[in-house]
Amino acid sequence: MKIHPLILMIVMIFANNSIAQTKVEGLLYLTKKPVVVEIKNGKIVNIHQIAKLSDQSHPVYIAPGLIDNQVNGFAGVSFCFAGGELTKEGILKATQELWKIGVTTYLPTLTTNTREVMIRNLALLAATKNDEALHGSVAGFHLEGPYISPVDGYRGAHPLKYVRKPDWNEFLEFYEASGKNIKTITLAPELDGAIEFIRKCTALGITVAIGHHNGSKEIIDEAVLNGARIVTHLGNGCANMINRHLNPLWPQLANDKLMASIICDGFHLRDEEIAVFYKVKGPDKTIITSDVTSFAALPPGEYKNDEGETIELTKEGRLSLPAQNVLYGSASPISRGVARIMKITGCTLSEAIQMSSTNPAKLYGLNDRGVLAKGKRADLILFEIGDSDLVMKKTYVEGKLVYEEGE
Ligand SMILES: [Zn+2]
Repeated sequence: MKIHPLILMIVMIFANNSIAQTKVEGLLYLTKKPVVVEIKNGKIVNIHQIAKLSDQSHPVYIAPGLIDNQVNGFAGVSFCFAGGELTKEGILKATQELWKIGVTTYLPTLTTNTREVMIRNLALLAATKNDEALHGSVAGFHLEGPYISPVDGYRGAHPLKYVRKPDWNEFLEFYEASGKNIKTITLAPELDGAIEFIRKCTALGITVAIGHHNGSKEIIDEAVLNGARIVTHLGNGCANMINRHLNPLWPQLANDKLMASIICDGFHLRDEEIAVFYKVKGPDKTIITSDVTSFAALPPGEYKNDEGETIELTKEGRLSLPAQNVLYGSASPISRGVARIMKITGCTLSEAIQMSSTNPAKLYGLNDRGVLAKGKRADLILFEIGDSDLVMKKTYVEGKLVYEEGE
């Protein structure tokens, strides 16, 4: 029997589509009601409520994947060191490890370093960003530095010898090396030329963040008027001894146009700081960030950084540079921040996911993600809420199951 080619084509399309279609069930993070999410060709094609989950013995929540705007490295891979260890394989490894804790999109973050190292690592990240194996998880890059305060305390753990004033020509070299993929930059607004620099970055569509700075109220407000939109890790990148009236915290809290990212790992901020920051900024203007480094997801112990300095990771997960008595980024993933902020502030799961997925997607113009809705990327997480962390059961990126607990 001969089959008409048109019929054969229709059968093949049908077969293809049925293979590409996936259905995922869970309790919707917004309502805690059971839903089924239908996925086809990497996108959400339908979400509808159902009477009950097929497996009621282990109810899991379903939410859009987490979006982390500050990932210096992960699981032994660093995006900013000069040591020559950043490779395409390393970027893939870090991404796969992040999927395991529910991060489906992140901004690799390059901290203060030499021009050569920054250009080299940006170029490698740019060449790898669109690799199919990453499924679009690298949405762009975050430059934290080198244009930050040189003053101890405000500078944090950034090496002083590489800290410098804003240099537009140098920045354009970074921008070109990144394939124009620098999504955001953190800088100190009080530095010479910083306000003009903020204006130029904003004109390029780059989200400007202020951080590691000691700007006055006037300078902070001027930075915002010229385009700065967020404070990077509010309450950190700040000296221990400050004037109780004149310090960067109050004006950053007082300026309603300024969002704030906060690190909720249990070491960077005290619970009462998180509680106050959240009361002031609320779920619409807060972003949960991790500031994780390459030491995250490694066993506790002593390590060496790129400068040969000793870095200490305690079993509780505190990461520090003991010689300077400063924290050295974090070892706790953003998922932990989500669980902790709910406990500390009493905010809902819906608000916590808004602050760790929806808000960063909006801030960086990632309009295809950050919510569960028809037509969006099928970046989904299925999880339970544990005592101090989310317990990830499954992670889907672009509709593909990339992590399953116990597999
Ligand atoms: Zn920092």
